[in-house]
Amino acid sequence: MKRLLIGLSLAGVFLAACHTARTQSEPQVIVVPPDEMSRQPALGPSTAGSPPAAPTPATVKPSATTVSLPPPAAAPANKHSYNSCNVDGPYIAITFDDGPHAVHTPTLLDMLKQRGLKATFYVVGQCAAEYPDIMKRIVAEGHEIGNHSWSHVALNSVGADSLRKQMENTNAAIKESTGLRPATMRPPYGATSARLNKLFDEEYGMKVILWSVDPLDWKNRNAATVSSRIIQNTHPGAIILAHDIHATTVAAMPEVFDTLTARGYKFVTVSELLALDRPAQLVKKETPAPTPAN
Ligand SMILES: [Zn+2]
Repeated sequence: MKRLLIGLSLAGVFLAACHTARTQSEPQVIVVPPDEMSRQPALGPSTAGSPPAAPTPATVKPSATTVSLPPPAAAPANKHSYNSCNVDGPYIAITFDDGPHAVHTPTLLDMLKQRGLKATFYVVGQCAAEYPDIMKRIVAEGHEIGNHSWSHVALNSVGADSLRKQMENTNAAIKESTGLRPATMRPPYGATSARLNKLFDEEYGMKVILWSVDPLDWKNRNAATVSSRIIQNTHPGAIILAHDIHATTVAAMPEVFDTLTARGYKFVTVSELLALDRPAQLVKKETPAPTPAN
């Protein structure tokens, strides 16, 4: 009982902290070199005849503006985490973490809608619970929602009980507002491990999504800096990290969206990008690389 009370009081603190904590800068991000996490060694063969359950791809909704995608190629079955994808074509996924935010997320949704672009939102559970209407709008407009923990903790530093609550309470908040179960998750600060990646994938049915483009938008609150870093570093198959809790990040987006679109990039959701992932050696060398930076 005492434990339950402690848990409840902590939940109360976290809930009350949604406005304040989420508007603070992202603390030190653990640097994960591109594709480092996806090169983890195989964690042992699965038991013959009982492969891990496939995640429910419930968050991808068809939409009139969805980009027409080529047929998917099979990704390695034991790949639990991704920094980027190997794709035949200029497909990219932009992701927004730490929201929803009462003001900035709707502003961003307007920008995406205007251009018919798709994004993925890694929501913090306590904020998802606070803004169910924004959650509904995100899904209604064809974007994907993923799990970013309940209270933005480093998941590799909490106990098993706390880890389970962080994951399950967030999935419950997402289900409550949208009726969907997320197919992917992003660990706060990129703090994870090979063991956790396997657990998130096999126990919760969520692939672990890191990133290959990081504009450090939590640190440098300048729209021009954020947009130029994203534009300069984006590549086919990129997963772009950004935060929709910062006004400067959202202000950077029109330039990012319009420049990358003009260069031929196609914005897809993370699950759509994962469906296009294939072994690197099969990706055509003549991938249509968009025009280099001016
Ligand atoms: Zn975060």
